[in-house]
Amino acid sequence: MKKTIGEFELWTQKGGPKWHYRLVCCAVLMFAILLSMPSYPHTVVDVTSLEGGSKPSGLNAIWHDPSGFGNIVEAEKSYKNKLFLPLGTAGSTGLKSGAFWSHFILKNSSSETVYVSIEYVDNQLDGLTAFSRIQGGSQPYTELASLSANQPFSSRKIRHHRFAFPLEIPPFASKEMMVKFDVGVLGVAFPSMRIWRPEQLEERSKAEAILTSFLFGGYFLMAILALIGAISARKNILYLYSLYSVTKIWVWGSLLGYTHQYLLQEQFDWRYQSISSAVAILTGILFARYFLETAKYTPRLDYFLKLILLNGLFLVICVVLQWEALGHISMMLALFFYPGVVVVALVRWRQGDTSAAVFALAWGVLVLGLLVQAMRDLGYVVHNPINYYWPPVASFVEMLAIMIAIGLLVKRLRQQKETAEKKYLLHLEASRTELEQQVKLRTQELEYAKAKAEEEARTDPLTGIFNRRCFFEEASNLVVVAINNQMPLCVLMLDIDNFKSVNDIHGHLIGDQALCATARVISQHVRDVDIFGRIGGEEFALVLSSNVEGAMKVANRIHRDIAKIVIKSAVGQAQFTASIGIARLQGREDILELMRRADSALYQAKRAGRNRIVECAEAT
Ligand code: GH3
Ligand code: MG
Ligand code: MG
Repeated sequence: MKKTIGEFELWTQKGGPKWHYRLVCCAVLMFAILLSMPSYPHTVVDVTSLEGGSKPSGLNAIWHDPSGFGNIVEAEKSYKNKLFLPLGTAGSTGLKSGAFWSHFILKNSSSETVYVSIEYVDNQLDGLTAFSRIQGGSQPYTELASLSANQPFSSRKIRHHRFAFPLEIPPFASKEMMVKFDVGVLGVAFPSMRIWRPEQLEERSKAEAILTSFLFGGYFLMAILALIGAISARKNILYLYSLYSVTKIWVWGSLLGYTHQYLLQEQFDWRYQSISSAVAILTGILFARYFLETAKYTPRLDYFLKLILLNGLFLVICVVLQWEALGHISMMLALFFYPGVVVVALVRWRQGDTSAAVFALAWGVLVLGLLVQAMRDLGYVVHNPINYYWPPVASFVEMLAIMIAIGLLVKRLRQQKETAEKKYLLHLEASRTELEQQVKLRTQELEYAKAKAEEEARTDPLTGIFNRRCFFEEASNLVVVAINNQMPLCVLMLDIDNFKSVNDIHGHLIGDQALCATARVISQHVRDVDIFGRIGGEEFALVLSSNVEGAMKVANRIHRDIAKIVIKSAVGQAQFTASIGIARLQGREDILELMRRADSALYQAKRAGRNRIVECAEAT
């Protein structure tokens, strides 16, 4: 500061402009400031026949009538009493009730009559009434237009989705304007209006229609695509998305004034806008709950979403019962809650759901659009075409982003399904292998048990050699083979002599050992081709594929070695001998016949004193 003063002094000393120059400069500056200040009450706008909407009617003389019932007479009185004051915001009156009046003068400096259209800048206003009179004259104000969302669209002098009315200014004349903006129980107004050459307004209106039809076309396409997807993929989320898209058409169609212009021209009601907003809130939150699966993964945050749903239902009730003020509060609450949905989506993202991140982004764009609208409505930001279309465009971008999020969700679900299927297949494969192994093991066990059972059925349990049944089976086969091949064959019947006395003297256990030892001795003297078995208590039988000489040799060796068996017992040593009867296969006789003859030889051996070998005499 000091330095600045120093420099100033220096400048003066160095021969800068003299003091009267400085005084003139200051005066010019002050005059300029005064000129640029709003000159209440005269807000004069120079109007030509080339207006392109860039000249605003201004915010310098605005009067708030809280009752909203004041007429032009009262407005004039207020004007005379200097109650019309500069608004002092960027453009909005802020949320108030009743009506606002604006006063301004439109001046035609040309020699020709100027025809203009005056357009209200926003879409949400209960009603607009415009009055005018030639300035300087003594005539009263006359009504130029009375516009309301509840009046038939056909009553509008300019067919525009926003309020607009025509005005005619004679050459070298000024029109004094009084415009009333009805905001109802609670609402905002943007009193500064746009002045247009009529054709230019029409062109602008067409351009806006192209933009909005692009948006609506997009919504419609998304709704149809989602519906087709929902039907083919049987995904409820896509049905909800389709419904959400349709409600977007409804809500923005109503809010921007197109429903009134094209669909419900005669019986449009301001409440359609509120009800469409309520339905958009309900479907949007329902969709968010379904998409983010909050009931499953974040039950507490799900209560929050349910609260917004309840508020949405309350809004519907307010609209139906015409509780306008409560409806406005409910709407504001919904907008206040909306950013919370972004937080919910971010929480779901942190839990690992990537599609929730895209959803958070989508909802964030929407919230940003609504925030811009709120800033504008509260008067912090100037009302302009960009922030006018920002909310519907943001809403459109939201839908596009959600479609991407759905794509990610479907991809994730498919991957989950594939992983589950793979896991299931692996599990199935493992179970199958295990089952196969178990079956194999069980089969082996069964085969072993079967073989063992068969073995046991064929084997004598004490000695381990063929039992009677098995011996006869095998022996009869061998007899048949021998007969067929004309091969020699002999049957030996062997019986331990006085075996009863072995048992009696040494005990049964020693008797058993004696039987086993006998079986061992026999097995040592037979070949693989021969058959032998235990056919009775201490009786053994052999079938030898040899002639009588060979059989005799074998019989002798067996007879000799049995006699050598010594079994120690508690009472001494057990020793015994055996008698053997031999029969040679003759002709085509069967095993029974052959055995009978061998037995007969054995009987002879016994009768002859035991411990000997007797060959059966040849049959005659
Ligand atoms: P022989 O010289 O006339 O044949 O007289 P033996 O005493 O040998 O004949 P006998 O038919 O009178 O008696 C057979 C005995 O064999 C009777 C029975 O107790 C005994 N015996 C039969 N089977 C078994 C067995 O499995 N173990 C034991 N220890 N003894 C058996
Ligand atoms: Mg016997
Ligand atoms: Mg005996």
